[in-house]
Amino acid sequence: MNAEIIAIGDELTSGQRLDTNSQWLSQRLGEMGIRVLYHTTVGDDIEANTRVFANAFQRADLIICTGGLGPTDDDLTRLALSRACGEPLETREEALEHIRRIFRKYSRDMPDRNKRQAEFPQGAQMIPNPHGTAPGVDLIIPRDGQLEGGQSPDGQSEGGESRIFALPGVPAEMREMWEQTVRQRIQDGFALASRAIRHRRLKCFGVGESHLEQMLPDMIKRGRVPAVGITVSQATITLRVTAEDASEDACWEAMTPTLQTIRERLGDLVFGEEDEELEHAVASLLAQSDQVLATAEWGTGGLIAHWMSEACRGSQHYVGGAVLRNEQAVGALLGVAAEHWAEHGSHSAELAALLAEKVRDSYGADIGLAVAAIPPAPPRADAPPRVAIALATADETTTKLIPYSGHPDILLTRTAKQALNQVRLLLLKQRAVR
Ligand code: ATP
Repeated sequence: MNAEIIAIGDELTSGQRLDTNSQWLSQRLGEMGIRVLYHTTVGDDIEANTRVFANAFQRADLIICTGGLGPTDDDLTRLALSRACGEPLETREEALEHIRRIFRKYSRDMPDRNKRQAEFPQGAQMIPNPHGTAPGVDLIIPRDGQLEGGQSPDGQSEGGESRIFALPGVPAEMREMWEQTVRQRIQDGFALASRAIRHRRLKCFGVGESHLEQMLPDMIKRGRVPAVGITVSQATITLRVTAEDASEDACWEAMTPTLQTIRERLGDLVFGEEDEELEHAVASLLAQSDQVLATAEWGTGGLIAHWMSEACRGSQHYVGGAVLRNEQAVGALLGVAAEHWAEHGSHSAELAALLAEKVRDSYGADIGLAVAAIPPAPPRADAPPRVAIALATADETTTKLIPYSGHPDILLTRTAKQALNQVRLLLLKQRAVR
């Protein structure tokens, strides 16, 4: 069995609104073990809508569409459905009464044009919409019937039937109708054996994507069960493990050995799970060891300060930091004239060490983190841009120079993450010797 999701609206095809309905519906269908093979997005055009429905009837067993059920002229879903399946529209008294009731509730007269929201292709069932005027449409279409709007272009027509659930575009209404009616109808109508699909994400940082892939050659392979996928975003690598089984518990059980093996092989490269980011890992390690962090950032625009402030919202394990934009600011923080440190070069490890020690002392922190990520100007071939990261604790100050180059869109983020990762590794090392 396969499914198609259709999102309707000019707002979506013109790029003004992101289609979050399809994402949500795919997740829900996935949880029921139903494979979604197609996502289709189509504008408010009757010919295009009719063609999209006709194609979907041919190639998908289950179709969920959202949008276009409103009362205005650009709401075309009912008409397009009727044309695509060849069933005329008829007004349902029950639906009309529901719409009148909604208007009465708000002490308003029902405009005539809302009557069209009570029209359904013959043979369709209503899907109640408790809080909106537009009831949904639930329709079964035999595949071997005479379908207007043409055959699917790829000739995938099969016998049997296709079932479509048309829901409003308003996300809250769509979700409520799914929860209250549609999910159960799918479960019953397709006599689904209880089937579940579950995902777990492991978050990694510290090596490139291909390097990490090499560490898991037998895992990231098409056809593996459970499946392991890899994606990278802003230098953070996500490994996504997917299991399909008879129940949620069975899924978790099936993926446990895979998750364990990945963690064993990658060690400290794994910093968290699901939506966790590096700053959450650092915040939690700071809390566990009851330590306080302070930061000095030259070249990362306060990204670390922002992330750590968010991650430590309810705690004082991050006290704050300095965001530096030029030599004067650095001089003011260090309390020395620029010539005392400028000879080292602004991205030098020595400067980063001074900054880390300074913020640690002046903010009363246990750990001072400093980033000095200003490339030499003008750029010199013999001195590729580097960023200096320093960590100052009561026992020692350590520094590290790392390359500072790459696409400008992710350069700052990656640099800030590299700095935070140094704090994480330090805290892990401290924990290991404790
Ligand atoms: P209504 O009865 O309220 O007119 P409708 O079924 O006609 O609902 P649309 O008019 O297409 O739905 O969409 C109503 C609103 O719902 C849109 O303005 C948009 O804010 C939101 N919406 C529609 N489709 C989506 C989608 N795929 N993802 C996220 N939001 C959506």
